Amino acid sequence: MSEVAFIGLGQMGSPMSTNILKKGHHVTVYDINPDAVAKLVALGAKSGKTPAQAAKGADFIITMLPNGKLVEEVAFGKEGFVASMKEGALHIDMSTISPFENDAIRAKIEKAGHEMMECPVGRTSADAVTGTLLLLAGGTKEQIARAKEVLLCMGNEMIDAGGPGMGIRLKIVNNFMSIALNALSAEAAVLCEAMGLSLNTAIEMMKGTPAIRSHFTTTWQAKVLKGDLSPAFMVDLAHKDLGIALDIGNRLHVPMVMGAACREIYNQTSAFGYGRKDWTSVLTHLRQMQKGNRNS
Ligand code: NAD
Repeated sequence: MSEVAFIGLGQMGSPMSTNILKKGHHVTVYDINPDAVAKLVALGAKSGKTPAQAAKGADFIITMLPNGKLVEEVAFGKEGFVASMKEGALHIDMSTISPFENDAIRAKIEKAGHEMMECPVGRTSADAVTGTLLLLAGGTKEQIARAKEVLLCMGNEMIDAGGPGMGIRLKIVNNFMSIALNALSAEAAVLCEAMGLSLNTAIEMMKGTPAIRSHFTTTWQAKVLKGDLSPAFMVDLAHKDLGIALDIGNRLHVPMVMGAACREIYNQTSAFGYGRKDWTSVLTHLRQMQKGNRNS
């Protein structure tokens, strides 16, 4: 059984640390909210008066905090835990923070002679309660193997994201996609309703198309990811259809900020020579924009 220090007992951290405790590990908690600490102590955890005290003797120091500034503060601030980390201890940050902050904290911890990995989580606080979080591990193979038993107390699926810092990058790209799709979905739903179309009918229909099934797993697999840009559906046709939808939106006063931005991407993709190529060549175009090399 491991000695675990757990810092940050909110919506997520409270059930996560409870699940570590339930699996028989020794848990010492720290939070600025005494009620949150008392709840864990009632379940059998010990409490530290400071992050440094909570981390003393711990094999793993887990942080689950609202932002990167706070992770930095509990690590290196007054009575931060780094000062009391024992040899061989591993800090695991499970918060959602900027990858740049994650990189900087890891570099500082390593400079102090200790180790850090990150393991942000997917899914919701309900999954934190049932121990079914999706664990996105970013660390060396050895660190992930060492932390696995403790991490799997909190989640039922673990992905090795590919090295230190990659777990938080995976989390951010997932959230970017999911958050942006939420807004795009709302635009599509309001367009549906404004046209008098049943949203349920549209959802049922779109379950069978890339609209809901995702381009990553359908059209991209079939075309651009194989390096095949021969048109299954042409960029210029996609541009035309998007224009029709935006025209309807305009007439019916549907806010379509996302749709309008997407039209510009198809405009550009066509302007840079992909008009008669497959619509998945928006990926090729954006990759070239990112590299600043439009002719490659
Ligand atoms: P929360 O606000 O409920 O909990 C944060 C906890 O940190 C609180 O108990 C607070 O008292 C404590 N805290 C704040 N400053 C502190 C300090 N200096 N020292 C010690 N404790 C301190 O937040 P949450 O919903 O538990 O989210 C935690 C992290 O998990 C965030 O980074 C969030 O983005 C991420 N996350 C949340 C969810 C979710 O569904 N809520 C899902 C995935 C990831």
